[in-house]
Amino acid sequence: MEQKKRWINIVLVLILLAAAGLCGFYYGKTAEAQQYQKEKEYAVQLNRSELEGLGEIGGKIYITGHRSPDTDTVAGAISCAYLLQQLGYDAVPVILTPINHETAFVLEHAGLEVPQLLEDASGLNMILVDHSEYAQSAEGLKDARILAIIDHHGDGSVSTGNPLIYDARPIGSTATIMWMRYRNYGIEPDQKTAAVMMSAILSDTYYFKSEMTTFADREAVKELSRLAGITDLDTYYQEMYKASISYDGMNDTEVFFSDYKEYESGSTNFGIACLNAYDDQSAQELIRRMQNTLPDMIPRTGMDMIFVMISIFHDDVSVTYLLPGNEAAREVLETAFADKAEFDGTAYKLEPGIARKKGLVPPVTDILASYPQE
Ligand code: MN
Ligand code: MN
Repeated sequence: MEQKKRWINIVLVLILLAAAGLCGFYYGKTAEAQQYQKEKEYAVQLNRSELEGLGEIGGKIYITGHRSPDTDTVAGAISCAYLLQQLGYDAVPVILTPINHETAFVLEHAGLEVPQLLEDASGLNMILVDHSEYAQSAEGLKDARILAIIDHHGDGSVSTGNPLIYDARPIGSTATIMWMRYRNYGIEPDQKTAAVMMSAILSDTYYFKSEMTTFADREAVKELSRLAGITDLDTYYQEMYKASISYDGMNDTEVFFSDYKEYESGSTNFGIACLNAYDDQSAQELIRRMQNTLPDMIPRTGMDMIFVMISIFHDDVSVTYLLPGNEAAREVLETAFADKAEFDGTAYKLEPGIARKKGLVPPVTDILASYPQE
């Protein structure tokens, strides 16, 4: 009997010791977590103190990216404005010239409005994102108060005598710098803002293919795609890319002139229009549209010859269709490409595709230079 009692006591003591140990363990863990939280809050407080340094701002803060805005410039302005709004500032994103097709797709997908156009920055409180050159920026910027520049390019011509936040980092996109600033300030972007920030990183880094891509860009996309609720990145990027090369809402002539350049060789002038298609179906559609407009382009441009190149360049597809605008142009293409491609009555199809500067201008120039001069 005594023996049994002793064993029960020993077991009880062991259970108590184990319980005490567990309690201690949990207490330690909680203290650790509390300490971590305290340090995080302290870091946030330190990071936010730069705003105090800007002093009394008085009035709205306008945030703009560069002229001919791309998705990063617009996302930079939108995300910077949202961050400041969360901190109680009267901040508004603006653009300087109309947005492109890719950005229109991104904003519509996210459910956000296109930012307002800013005519003149004179006398305003300004923040510049994704640029720091006067030539790329707002009218009247020299008479504005510049509060901050957030950029991932070389430092440009913009300068100010006032203290400012200057955050420039050699990473893939301005949106990534903004993501890091959100973390530093202890604030999370909402779903819509996260979606445009993520899109900007994908756009500026060509979905991580650019050599400017860093660890931070990949981490930012991981976190922002979660916040945005966009899980299938491959499909999303494909849709974004399709939008970036779409000619929706443009007439045939506008499509022709969207990327058109003129050259001269010997006594001959020629023009080359460069277009992009996503797949063969959209390439055929562009060929059809260019056939409609090509007969008018010779008299309109005054060129002796016109060429249109329609290329499909993405992933591992590389194709270029070459359309002659008149018989003279067709003869030049026949001389240059007869051994590389067949003429189907409308176009020569080259695989792999070629670039205008490297693949088309040199052979055309050489052939024209060999023509007898008048
Ligand atoms: Mn840009
Ligand atoms: Mn950029």
